[in-house]
Amino acid sequence: LRDLVATARDLPVETEDGVPVTLQLNVGLNTDRDLLKELNVKGVGLYRTEIPFMMRERLPTEDEQVELYAKVLEQFSAGPVVMRTLDVGGDKPLPYFPINEENPFLGWRGIRLTLDHPEIFLVQVRAMLRASILRNNLRILLPMVTSAAEVDEASRLVKQAFFEVAEELSCDSDEQLFQPLLGVMIEVPALVYQLEAIAGKVDFFSVGTNDLTQYLLAVDRNNQRVASLYDAYHPSVLAVLQEIVTRCEALGKPVSVCGELAGEPGGALLLVAMGYRTLSMNSYNIDRVRWILRNVRLSTLHVMLAQALRARTPEQVRKMTNLKLESMG
Ligand code: PEP
Ligand code: MG
Repeated sequence: LRDLVATARDLPVETEDGVPVTLQLNVGLNTDRDLLKELNVKGVGLYRTEIPFMMRERLPTEDEQVELYAKVLEQFSAGPVVMRTLDVGGDKPLPYFPINEENPFLGWRGIRLTLDHPEIFLVQVRAMLRASILRNNLRILLPMVTSAAEVDEASRLVKQAFFEVAEELSCDSDEQLFQPLLGVMIEVPALVYQLEAIAGKVDFFSVGTNDLTQYLLAVDRNNQRVASLYDAYHPSVLAVLQEIVTRCEALGKPVSVCGELAGEPGGALLLVAMGYRTLSMNSYNIDRVRWILRNVRLSTLHVMLAQALRARTPEQVRKMTNLKLESMG
């Protein structure tokens, strides 16, 4: 089976009945390999910028960030690269920026922290833009957004950074700065009910199933004591995921999934059945998900999804997806 999975690499990602699905990569550190070509995928759906920040002893300077992001944009130049702005706090501490909170997952995380420190946000966005000069593959993604006001504020800062960098470019050079697409992560449940208010302000959405599951179920994603309760196959999580894609479709806004669920065979089947057509995942899941999608008919997935949405427990849902996967060999 492993050989079969690897030989499907050159083939397009589409279901047996011809529905195309775009697979993208989640990355955190640069590698020297040309993974887009190697794995035949269409871009980076999530570049977690906090990872290089976490590995240092101090905040990287703007120039250091430019160097870092330019390498990423260059390495993955065959497709779009979605760079997420700094998503620290919660389970992602910066050793040189201590945050002491009793309830860090409900505290100063992601966009909340960077909007309180616009100098950090501006430097990072300026670095992304400077790194993207002459390239048109940068997309910017905002993490942990809860309200339209945060999107307005972040968007204003992105525009400021854009005009600053554009102005600094010498007029007579042929250097060109492209306006990056701006997206928002859907990972705080409240945002699901503000999609209409936010859709006009952004170019795309990306669903973070890891945090969406944590916040919808009120289960800390890293607490071993409640680990058995943390489950993205919970019927309520599935219902919300279905609602998100239906509403985004109605709004005409592209939506993808970059949480771990997208890279799980059963999760990918459920998401495609719901209507998601772009899934972003870690490199080691790509071949498997491609093979599974190429060997399934969307019409049969719809039957499975209808049952899953009526299930009462995550275990029942898992049984359904496992049955489907077993029937495919
Ligand atoms: C998510 O929450 O699903 C996500 C992709 O972001 P992270 O895991 O980095 O919080
Ligand atoms: Mg998240």
